[in-house]
Amino acid sequence: MSIDTNPFSISALEQYAWRPIQERSPIALSVFNPGTGEQLGSIPTVSTEQLYVCHQQATNAFEEWSQTTTFQRSEKLHRLADLMKEHHTSLAKLISLENGKPFAESAGEVTYSIGFFRWFANSVVQLQGYVPSSPPKLKVEVHHKPIGVCAAITPWNFPLAMLAKKCAAALAAGCAMLCKPADETPFSAIALMRLIEMAEFPHGIVQMCVGDAPMIGEYFCTQKKIRKLSFTGSTEVGRILMRQSSHNLQKLSMELGGNAPFIVLDSADMDTVCTGMLRSKFRNSGQACISANRFIIAESRYNEVLSMLTSQAKSLSVGPAFDESHETSSNDIGPLISLEAVRKLHRLLTDATGKGATLHWGSFPNVDSQFVDPIIVTGITPEMDLWWEELFGPVIACAKAKDTEDAIQLANQSNHGLGAYLFTQNPSEIESLPSQIECGMVGVNTGAISMPHTPFGGVKYSGFGREGGMEGLFEYLTTQTVVRQF
Ligand code: ADP
Repeated sequence: MSIDTNPFSISALEQYAWRPIQERSPIALSVFNPGTGEQLGSIPTVSTEQLYVCHQQATNAFEEWSQTTTFQRSEKLHRLADLMKEHHTSLAKLISLENGKPFAESAGEVTYSIGFFRWFANSVVQLQGYVPSSPPKLKVEVHHKPIGVCAAITPWNFPLAMLAKKCAAALAAGCAMLCKPADETPFSAIALMRLIEMAEFPHGIVQMCVGDAPMIGEYFCTQKKIRKLSFTGSTEVGRILMRQSSHNLQKLSMELGGNAPFIVLDSADMDTVCTGMLRSKFRNSGQACISANRFIIAESRYNEVLSMLTSQAKSLSVGPAFDESHETSSNDIGPLISLEAVRKLHRLLTDATGKGATLHWGSFPNVDSQFVDPIIVTGITPEMDLWWEELFGPVIACAKAKDTEDAIQLANQSNHGLGAYLFTQNPSEIESLPSQIECGMVGVNTGAISMPHTPFGGVKYSGFGREGGMEGLFEYLTTQTVVRQF
């Protein structure tokens, strides 16, 4: 019998998660591989009492961590990033197993996650207070201090990266973090907690609390000593959390859903559109809050764009992340996370076709399978639900725009405003149009808009607060002004 020496295998992480609380027979959360339906393992869930213990440990760790210098914190974050690099392949496999995305994408997610630890390690040492001008006999100073023990709630679509963004900024700022990862993907979270322990951060500085979402959410929002909550997920849950935390006047960041327009104008370069489309539509099977949701295409280029989209849709392979010998497969698109997600796509397509849209390529998804082949639907309008809701699947939904003005007006017809994509070679449009789009991030002639050193976040119902960039660090800091009179 071979002995598993990989600390990031499912069985090793299961043992790691269960060991401290085996005697207490907690409720187990089963985790499944969305590509095969097989049970991967189970993770213990936390009770309110255990949450309190996690909170106490995080508070103790905060006392120690918040007293460190920015240089000490930077060094530890680099150590953590080194460890992630060392275990890159194991972490990527873990993501593919519990999320289902193709291995190459999971590997990209690990690299992206490491980038956040590197970025905040490098940027926190630049953090400086300042001395505003003061009249004689007065000295004024402005200092940045860690806000305290923080909390994070994350979704399943980027199980490692969503936590990495939040934890890297919090740790750099000198904070401790209580996290609630998604039920579908807790193993990547446990792996991150293990890595943090291996990097020798103070014991309990980051806690992964898996379990009853409403109970944990309420705890995070209502505890006076949790000073900040960072949430990534749906607008509906964001609203619940905001209501709950209002009494506590907690600092919040809300990274909620998107409804990204993908705008193709008269002068667009077709190869650039194609690369941007593959990146922004099919990554993670279209299950990203910055996925292109509505393709708004200039009338003059409509047929040409549609034929490019169709030939691309035909060429993409759909299947599991691993083949039968457990080697990574070369599929382009993995399964959707659940049958519920497939049913949602079915509902949106039924509504759209019932209101006049046409299925241009592909067919209605089989609601008994999580594997969905690319679909192209044309003639979408604001009367349809898919105009307003995130598709979260490999569906390209197209509308025609009369001209540039019409395209921008259609793009802004959304309650959300996270990402947007604009394709044009016209210098004047490249310069002037991004500021007319109501969103937090615009990709001009690119489908890649998220990097560790740039602020990520939205406007309108997409929420507020930013992750990445210096803005991401300030989410976990509070500012203190000191006025000294002599
Ligand atoms: P998604 O549709 O992507 O799963 P959700 O907003 O439902 O988006 O979930 C995102 C995260 O929020 C997950 O970790 C989920 O468990 C958690 N969550 C869901 N409902 C609540 C709630 N009432 N309070 C706190 N967290 C919640």
